[in-house]
Amino acid sequence: MQRIIASVLVCGTLTALSMTSVAAGEHSFAPADVMSTPQVRSYGPPPFPAPTALPGMPGDRGAPGVVDPVPAYVPQTSCDPREKRGITAFKRAVMAQYPSGKDWGSTRNCTDDGISEHLDGRAWDWNVNVRNPTQFAQAAQLLTWLTANNGYNARRLGIMYIGYNARIWGAYRASEGWRPLNNSNPHTDHVHFSFSWNGALAKTSFWTGSVQREDFGPCRPYAGQPAPIRVGVNSQPCPRAGALPASLKKAKRLWRGSRGANVVRVQKKLKVKGEAGFFGSRTAQAVLKFQQRKRLPRTGAVDAVTWYALKMNVKAK
Ligand SMILES: [Zn+2]
Repeated sequence: MQRIIASVLVCGTLTALSMTSVAAGEHSFAPADVMSTPQVRSYGPPPFPAPTALPGMPGDRGAPGVVDPVPAYVPQTSCDPREKRGITAFKRAVMAQYPSGKDWGSTRNCTDDGISEHLDGRAWDWNVNVRNPTQFAQAAQLLTWLTANNGYNARRLGIMYIGYNARIWGAYRASEGWRPLNNSNPHTDHVHFSFSWNGALAKTSFWTGSVQREDFGPCRPYAGQPAPIRVGVNSQPCPRAGALPASLKKAKRLWRGSRGANVVRVQKKLKVKGEAGFFGSRTAQAVLKFQQRKRLPRTGAVDAVTWYALKMNVKAK
């Protein structure tokens, strides 16, 4: 019963967000994934041939039978494109065991838009093409090992969902198996992995030998506005975010990846050097310091509240 209530809340949040920020981009799996029909049904076979061997992954510190709880679906809320340590550890272990694939990176600029764990450093793209027999076979080995037995190993690594070859597998919907992937990119040249916060921070049983409580990550102050950058565990699901007050609605959004005259204005106000006209890590750091000084939510983005606190609405004389 609790799970049903939680998923209704999540859907409510996403409905509110989807009006402003969900684009059908490469990595925006999530809204359609959660909002699809709640009845449990099983789909066809996995989108790869059954492997003859399961090499698993190096670095396992877990004891047999110690397995993390099924992760909730916790979508990206903050603009924090720094690769988290669990992602680095995971991709190193995968590339050591399955060397035919390539690292296609973890993070994206927040201007890539949509809801994507690439924007908060909890995702990884592994380049294994279904048309390359060696890569396809190695992808099949890893993905079978992860998802078998209701996702036993995926849970131990904190994997929230996987997209590959026009299918999606979610740890929170493991009983349904590989479902159709509702995405403009069929993911035939790479596997997309999204992680829970515990998985992204290497705090799951595979890495530590012990089991942590779910971490629901930072919550949005207003619908469509970025959440503060995570600083600690949040053991409660985020409540549905309220609407942005009318007095803040004319603000423009600037964040990692933004360019142009307004970025230059922010950089002048905050004395940022070295990335003129581009909102990169230095500008994000300066914005974080400003937010700390003004006791605003530390989002690292020029969100609506920060836009007005910086007096960006006032034209320079
Ligand atoms: Zn991806």
